[in-house]
Amino acid sequence: MKKIALSLLTVSLLAGFCAGLAGCDIGTSSRSEIKIGGKTMGTFYNITVIGDYPGGQDQLRHEAEEVLDSINKEISFFDRNSELSRFNQHRSTEPFKVSQDVADVVIASIRAGQELHGAVDVTVGPLVNLWGFGHVKPETLPPVPDDNAINAARKRVGLDKLHVIVGYNSAQLKKDNPQLEVDLSTVGEGFGADKLAELMDRRGIQNYMVSVAGAIRTKGLNSRGKDWVVAIEHPTTEQAVGQRLEIPVCTKGQAISTSGSYRNYKIDEKTGTRLSHIIDPATGKPITHHTVSITVVGPTALWTDAIDTGLMVMGSDEALRYANERSMAIYTIVKEGNEFKSHYSKAMQQYLVCD
Ligand code: ADP
Ligand code: MG
Repeated sequence: MKKIALSLLTVSLLAGFCAGLAGCDIGTSSRSEIKIGGKTMGTFYNITVIGDYPGGQDQLRHEAEEVLDSINKEISFFDRNSELSRFNQHRSTEPFKVSQDVADVVIASIRAGQELHGAVDVTVGPLVNLWGFGHVKPETLPPVPDDNAINAARKRVGLDKLHVIVGYNSAQLKKDNPQLEVDLSTVGEGFGADKLAELMDRRGIQNYMVSVAGAIRTKGLNSRGKDWVVAIEHPTTEQAVGQRLEIPVCTKGQAISTSGSYRNYKIDEKTGTRLSHIIDPATGKPITHHTVSITVVGPTALWTDAIDTGLMVMGSDEALRYANERSMAIYTIVKEGNEFKSHYSKAMQQYLVCD
């Protein structure tokens, strides 16, 4: 099995936002702004502040990186010393003390999982590891796990086996199966973006855009006094490598994030099948449908980041039905033959027309 990190093709199929890239904010600036960016959580972060930041750009970088570093120490699935990893290595059903942050993310993730009938499930870690997308070294694993291994891992998976006990000034996590693991990778970026937004709010910034990879939070207006616009990358045809359209989304102060099946995958060399890093908890296997990406607009990036993954598990048709029943704003891209088609829910329309 060959791991494809980021081929040219994946870049063209990649779903993401120009907020993560330089030059997202198209047009001439009329107000001064501070921009910073850097690496975090194995990906990148970006912040644009309109006007001044108390203490200036260096202080902004210092404070933002402090926030992001502390999140990594709390919820990284890969850093074996993070609070979450220590809970994962705690092979006992006795409660385990965690910070309020960890408890908050786990509570929000469990809630999103329940809303989506288990399609997004942060206890899916043993299956993520088994398919070679987790912290277990892929070279120690068989190319494709057999059914026995999948079934054994599934016994350790399930939101019903995970509990958060919140007391006065304390929080604990508890697992019913000592082998259960929590993988917050799918919500980590959203949580990071929310925490950066919280920092901006604490510092009294009225107009900003913050992002961790494809999870974005915006507030107020951009440097031209207009609504912040981010772009969903839309491939044209599979042949047209590198060509893509950008669908502008006016965020109207909301959070936005995208889940994509082409960003991180492997090829099973025996069958030539593309194995996505998104696992369907109902089958214990990577998703196989042709939905390329799903973008969600909503109140917090933690929520959109959890929901987009669950909707990716469902696939475009079911996701659109689900979103329309709940007035949820989503935009999907599906590979149909050699073409890429987009669809969106009714609630998404308002974000596709800028004021
Ligand atoms: P994307 O941005 O494409 O949604 P993320 O990095 O946000 O991808 O989330 C994918 C990661 O989440 C996987 O690498 C894995 O660690 C974990 N994961 C995979 N499937 C699920 C699932 N059904 N529910 C929750 N987490 C999952
Ligand atoms: Mg996600």
